[in-house]
Amino acid sequence: MRADLKEKVDRVLITEEEIKKRVKKLGAQITADYSLDDDIVMVGILRGAVMFMSDLARCVDLPVTLDFMDVSSYDGTKSSGIVRIIKDLEENIAGRHILIVEDIIDTGLTLRHVVSFLETRNPASIKICTLLDKPERRKEKKVEVDYNGFEIPDEFVVGYGLDYQEKFRNLPYIFVLKEEFYE
Ligand code: 5GP
Repeated sequence: MRADLKEKVDRVLITEEEIKKRVKKLGAQITADYSLDDDIVMVGILRGAVMFMSDLARCVDLPVTLDFMDVSSYDGTKSSGIVRIIKDLEENIAGRHILIVEDIIDTGLTLRHVVSFLETRNPASIKICTLLDKPERRKEKKVEVDYNGFEIPDEFVVGYGLDYQEKFRNLPYIFVLKEEFYE
């Protein structure tokens, strides 16, 4: 591990090898659940899902279209449940199968809003794939996760797309940041 990281890492939660193995399995599961005739649009939520989406898409052995959305809380308060669409999809999704790809589900409020927003455009189906899930923190029970990489405890994690103040996204593993670094 890089010297500058050693003092910031509480512990590595998920290694690069574990991520690779799990992403491969998720890709195989998704491949098995859809058919070759399905018009699938993978919708990555920026920016956290970028690493996961690019690895996952390569493990899905079906024709897929890739698109991205960027969303944020209205008033800056995390998990207000009211999200502002910063970047909308490029694709018309009517009649198509949507697979939302998310880095982490915490309260679930962001995803609930994204799902409601996409539903108004009449897609054929909407499924959710998240790399990480913090079930202890869930407030929104209506959000059903179809594919879940890892369930993790209620701790602040970074790496493999996840950031703290826009840093750490490019690390190939996921670690718990020492509390003193985000106080
Ligand atoms: P939710 O609406 O489910 O509460 O919010 C999910 C969003 O919160 C994620 O997309 C992510 O941006 C952020 N988030 C939640 N937990 C963590 C975490 O442990 N680490 C990081 N880096 N972001 C998190």
